[in-house]
Amino acid sequence: MLTHVLGFPRIGANRELKRALESFWSGKTKAQTFNNRVHEIKISNWKQVKSTGIDYTTVGDFSLYDQMLDHTQLFGAIPPRFQHKYEDPQELYFAMARGDAEKGISAMEMTKWFDTNYHYIVPEFDANTHFSKTNSKLLEDVREAKKLGLNPKPVLIGPITYLSLGKEIGGFNKWLLLPQLVELYKELVSELAAECEVIQIDEPILVTDISEELRLTVSETYKQIKSVCKECKLLVATYFESLGDNLNTFLNLNADILHFDLIEGKGQLTNIIDSFPADKSISLGLVDGRNIWKTDLTEALETLTTVTEKIDLERVYLSSSCSLLHSPVDLRNETKLPSEIVNWLSFAVQKCQELTVLKNAVKGEDVEQIRLKNSKAIAERKASKLVHDETVQKRCREVSAEMYERTNSFSSRKLIQQSYFNLPELPTTTIGSFPQTPKIRKTRRDFKAGILSNSDYELKIKNVIKDNIKIQHQIGLDVLVHGEPERNDMVEYFGEMLKGFCFTENGWVQSYGSRCVKPPIIYGDVSRPEPMTVKWTEYAASLSHKPVKGMLTGPVTILCWSFVRNDLPRSEVCKQLALAVRDEVQDLENAEIKMIQIDEAAFREGMPLKEADKNDYLQWAVDSFKLTSSSVKDDTQIHTHMCYSDFNSISEWIAKMDADVISIEASRSGMKLLDSFKEFPYPNEIGPGIYDIHSPRIPSVEEMVNLLKKGLEVIPQSELWVNPDCGLKTRKWEETKASLQNMVKSAKIVRKIITH
Ligand code: GLN
Ligand code: ZN
Repeated sequence: MLTHVLGFPRIGANRELKRALESFWSGKTKAQTFNNRVHEIKISNWKQVKSTGIDYTTVGDFSLYDQMLDHTQLFGAIPPRFQHKYEDPQELYFAMARGDAEKGISAMEMTKWFDTNYHYIVPEFDANTHFSKTNSKLLEDVREAKKLGLNPKPVLIGPITYLSLGKEIGGFNKWLLLPQLVELYKELVSELAAECEVIQIDEPILVTDISEELRLTVSETYKQIKSVCKECKLLVATYFESLGDNLNTFLNLNADILHFDLIEGKGQLTNIIDSFPADKSISLGLVDGRNIWKTDLTEALETLTTVTEKIDLERVYLSSSCSLLHSPVDLRNETKLPSEIVNWLSFAVQKCQELTVLKNAVKGEDVEQIRLKNSKAIAERKASKLVHDETVQKRCREVSAEMYERTNSFSSRKLIQQSYFNLPELPTTTIGSFPQTPKIRKTRRDFKAGILSNSDYELKIKNVIKDNIKIQHQIGLDVLVHGEPERNDMVEYFGEMLKGFCFTENGWVQSYGSRCVKPPIIYGDVSRPEPMTVKWTEYAASLSHKPVKGMLTGPVTILCWSFVRNDLPRSEVCKQLALAVRDEVQDLENAEIKMIQIDEAAFREGMPLKEADKNDYLQWAVDSFKLTSSSVKDDTQIHTHMCYSDFNSISEWIAKMDADVISIEASRSGMKLLDSFKEFPYPNEIGPGIYDIHSPRIPSVEEMVNLLKKGLEVIPQSELWVNPDCGLKTRKWEETKASLQNMVKSAKIVRKIITH
């Protein structure tokens, strides 16, 4: 029985890759130095995995930006706007990833990789797309690994997944490209087959709902690929879920080793072993690749025994459930976490070690000491006082149906709110954060480091809030915000004040390119010991006669952007979060804050991969939001915000959240987003963003007037709000002020038009 992982984090334990990239992009390092540096990082990653005892070295999982983009370049599928403009392939690569301001070429689109927080660069296909192999990097890596005495297992994203995730430009049917693409894979695979024992091809698309027609295509495709892979084993990997209706297709695929995610797809194990073909090997994804909890080795060994009763050992491989890309690198870098909690965790390096222990156990080596220690940790976590809070559990059990509902329907609330706030038509507001200057960041850093006293810190933050209010008055906005200077991150800020959360020092995970995130860990029952935002919002409100919106992050978003405990259903953790944020909503209302925005930026991200699971998710996600927001009186106005506008099939659910006002991103698509509300009109008030905050460009008055007019084609004037696409924390003050001034002007112009 051999071990492998589907992929390893590229970034390095101290985010070495991030540093190398950013220094290169800023011109501080020259290409040669940069390339040497990233080469070192790659090799050191290989060696690190090897040192844990893993048998194969996965090669090709390293990337300078994104593995999908690597394939796009390898296949020569360069979008026309980049063609013939770059001599250096690396320059072309980064231009596709990040755009090229000098040449005025926009970056390729980026979107989420399945249901993870990793983002890939979306391939673009049109009638002129032609695939041909442009480099031999993978083969070179394989040869290099062999020279180092490693046993390389190259990995490619499969042709079906690659094509499925690309977008079609100009009405072109991308599946016409498949025959070409398959030829290219054959070329690659036959080259690699001569050099290695196993080739891994990832087809995560097989855990989603695909058509019967595509299933046939999958079978046909692998028949062809396998035909050139005789002397070497072809491993096809699925992950992030069970195979569902695609299981039979997969079991009968022309491949030698089939990989299954037995963490997210735990339930499929019986079906798999009952009908596992005698001529194939199985790769068991038994160690969670995307969460941070220690594997229960005893349980994993039991699963292994169940498998090996039916499938002989030589045909069994052990692996991570998915690539370890989604896991932080090394737990040994954590020095400040409570030791009790550290003892429950496992990051990428430790996960590799777990696989080695499992293998050694099966080989008959004495691992009893390790296993007992592991069982002890698992048992301690189960029983820990840190995890279980009877008060929280009781409160969750006692949540009643009426706690999910506002007292009256939106139509009666609207009248009450109108007379309470007395806002002009097309009221202007922002999404919450204002520019985060280096000075603000330093203030927060100094406070954290103990350099600033509590009172000095409070004073400094309050001064920023005071400035923010003054500026908003000058600009003439109707509904103000305090500007969020106290927040480093919209989830971290709340997590740090909630019970049940902890934070790592170095638990970084790649989000896209050089961007990494450090998700909080939800390890126990969640509650809110004290108000989290009231003093800031209250202070802001005291400085203005205009309404000031309180600003909170919603339960679904906190859940989606954290590592979540795996001993409770996600819906239950979300309910606890909802109750905690509900307490804050109540305290804000008690402090006379009569507009409260609860951001649910990640609402759509949380959607499960399979159609059949979606309603269940949407139900508890909407319920969580309602549990958070429904305790308030009719004259308190609940806002929510989402950073996208493409709601396609979920508009009805968004409406069910019953927020009085929703703001969404819309400017970049020129209000096209509102299409999703054409068939099902949003019943409450809505602010489609008219200022693209992702760019430093200052939108003109005329441009925003036009967007508002477009909005009015779909949204009644009594329901339309005027706001930017999202928060302004990444922008500079200069452009922010100018843009918001234009925004307020455009609202005034359109108000005049509609009253005439
Ligand atoms: N209130 C947050 C802000 O303005 C919302 C951010 C978001 O939706 N991502 O920054
Ligand atoms: Zn947003």
